[in-house]
Amino acid sequence: MDIYFYNTLTKKKEKFEPIKEGEVKIYSCGPTVYKDATIGNLRTYIFMDSLRRTLKYNGYKLKHAMNITDVGHLVSDGDEGEDKMIKSSRETGKDPLEIATYYTKLFLDDCKKLNIDMPEIICKATEHIEDMEKFVEKLIENGYAYETSTAIYFDVSKLDNYGILSGINLKEQKAGARIEIDEEKKNPYDFALWIKAPKNHLMKWESPWGLCYPGWHIECSAMSNKYLGDVFDIHTGGVDLIPTHHENEIAQSKGVTGKIPARYWMHGEFLLIDGGKMSKSLNNAYLLSDIINKGYEPLSYKLLNFSSHYRNKLNFTWEALDSSSKALQKLREGYRKHLEGNDVIEEDKINEYKEQFLEAINDDLNMPLAMAIVWEVIKRNEKSKQYAQVLLDFDRVLGLEIDKENEVQELPDEVKNLIEERKKARENKDYEKSDEIRNKIEKMGYKVKDSKDGMQVQKA
Ligand code: AMP
Ligand code: ZN
Repeated sequence: MDIYFYNTLTKKKEKFEPIKEGEVKIYSCGPTVYKDATIGNLRTYIFMDSLRRTLKYNGYKLKHAMNITDVGHLVSDGDEGEDKMIKSSRETGKDPLEIATYYTKLFLDDCKKLNIDMPEIICKATEHIEDMEKFVEKLIENGYAYETSTAIYFDVSKLDNYGILSGINLKEQKAGARIEIDEEKKNPYDFALWIKAPKNHLMKWESPWGLCYPGWHIECSAMSNKYLGDVFDIHTGGVDLIPTHHENEIAQSKGVTGKIPARYWMHGEFLLIDGGKMSKSLNNAYLLSDIINKGYEPLSYKLLNFSSHYRNKLNFTWEALDSSSKALQKLREGYRKHLEGNDVIEEDKINEYKEQFLEAINDDLNMPLAMAIVWEVIKRNEKSKQYAQVLLDFDRVLGLEIDKENEVQELPDEVKNLIEERKKARENKDYEKSDEIRNKIEKMGYKVKDSKDGMQVQKA
């Protein structure tokens, strides 16, 4: 079945055709490791996971590289401010590489907890300084870069169409150019490829232009070229990377190879918190550990991500996470129900579901639609091992560990005793006492729900 992806480059949904039959080469912009990855960052990697799994489900072999930015990402996405790693190092008194190692491990652990299928190649910027330097040399040689007293800049006026991805029109922009920090820059949109390190700068490398450190964008051009070649199939990242980072990656690659490095550019939309921006100052830059500490399984957050298409914003609320957590339990219960059943289903019906699911994921990773089909199978009245098999097959794309036993929450003895007491009160129709005990349980941090199946008590 054909696959369609929305391509930011052409602004259209296009049929996916890999350069080499049966194989897909992908590059994903990885995290900047001077801080914890927020659940916003992780949304982008859940999107990457769905992409990888969908391609594999369609039988493709993958060669996928993702960078770890451990140098060069300045405080602003332009060329202003301090290197984020150095700033963190100054604030914490720790060595930049120590910080990078620490946060890289946390990021990889989070990805594991979310059952994210990871790229075959994970490459660190600091381990590819020489490759970047060669890229800069080539850009100078080809006439696309120039040296000032502070840096080597890319000259955007040398390209016919700088801004191809985001549609920036350089002529219109020039009039209202921002205040420049480097007066020697030729054009406002020229960006730093290689930065001359000030004295006492912690991360710097010997180069033909003295002690320097790389700009942020060069690492992705140099590493994608090294591992995937001049032109590969798909490039991914979050939408914020379109106007600066990815535009500059295209510029750099065109300056060296004359080509746009990827054929399909895919971007994930942002995660919002309670309908607004996520930020440290609002105290809502939640981490996966916050979710875990509230007693939720990380995969509940992954399931929440499937409630919105990757190109739409997703709003995170704790209520929505709670619903996803319950939905995940129901999904696993549904799988088990089918696994224990013996009904026989016509092969045509099974194939129909499989086809619908494939159509959904192949239509630009439409996970909300794919989930609707999953729920249809779960809710079938017949109980059939064939359905369990189908669900397990779908889980190759979802990665929700659908065959995992639900984790039973162990309640403390004190709560268990109160539950028994309340049951007795209700049997005796002593509703006043029942309410009193309910309040007691809730004060201890548990939720009490009465239904036709009895009383359910869970951590609030
Ligand atoms: P960074 O670690 O800041 O370099 O970002 C890593 C990835 O997370 C990039 O692809 C960003 O586009 C993405 N990202 C940052 N904030 C969010 C957010 N709120 N929602 C989704 N993706 C995000
Ligand atoms: Zn990048």
